Amino acid sequence: MMTNQPKYSINIMKNEKPLRVSKEIKEILKGVASGKMMKNMRYESVSCPVIKDVIPFLECFACESFIRRFKGEIHCAGLKGPK
Ligand code: SF4
Repeated sequence: MMTNQPKYSINIMKNEKPLRVSKEIKEILKGVASGKMMKNMRYESVSCPVIKDVIPFLECFACESFIRRFKGEIHCAGLKGPK
């Protein structure tokens, strides 16, 4: 399927401090990863090529274009930006 075809590979960046994510994003990701994993992922960010801005990884994780994370990279379908 088209949506499984990554258009972009984006490096995941580490931050010193955890990033804030909205309640809405947390709701979308409920049950997707363990609490500990979610906590670790709050320190990560990505430079989104669709909206051309740096955003918390968790926003990317909840995005419709997100395909997978693999070896420190995001595979993105590049169809639609994050909410
Ligand atoms: S999955 Fe969404 S947020 Fe992540 S890089 Fe692609 S368009 Fe941007």
